[in-house]
Amino acid sequence: MSETLNISDAEWEVMRVVWASGESTSKEIAQVLNDKRGWSQSTVKTLIGRLSSKGYLHARKEARHFVYITHLEEPESLKREVEGMLSRICSRKKPNLLAYLIEKIPMVAEDRAMLEEVLQNKQVVAEVPCDCHPGQCTCQLHASSTILPNLSLEEIKHEN
Ligand SMILES: [Zn+2]
Repeated sequence: MSETLNISDAEWEVMRVVWASGESTSKEIAQVLNDKRGWSQSTVKTLIGRLSSKGYLHARKEARHFVYITHLEEPESLKREVEGMLSRICSRKKPNLLAYLIEKIPMVAEDRAMLEEVLQNKQVVAEVPCDCHPGQCTCQLHASSTILPNLSLEEIKHEN
């Protein structure tokens, strides 16, 4: 699994402009984000600076200004964001979360057909093990209670 991206919500707004345009000047990025969020050019420049120091944006000098590009692909970045989110959830709870998303996300008939095909071909396992750290999930509290009865969260913390 690829490493989780370190992009804040505000920085993500900048990345979206660069992904949509392919390459942008800070002025072009500021125009979009002033319109959407009311951000000043200096706010946008700060965000660009942070993204550049993280290695997500690269500046190319043109005649009188810098043009910003990224080597991160948008679909790959979205996957990494989702992976990061999923890593915070117990494996046993992911199917419920997915059902919630499927109910919530608007889709056309073709989208639903695609999902139905994915589900048809989905390999199932006998049981999904809880992969959480002890003390961070109720599954493991239940599982460990047979070995360590009446262990409180506080006591589990001190065990480690
Ligand atoms: Zn768990």
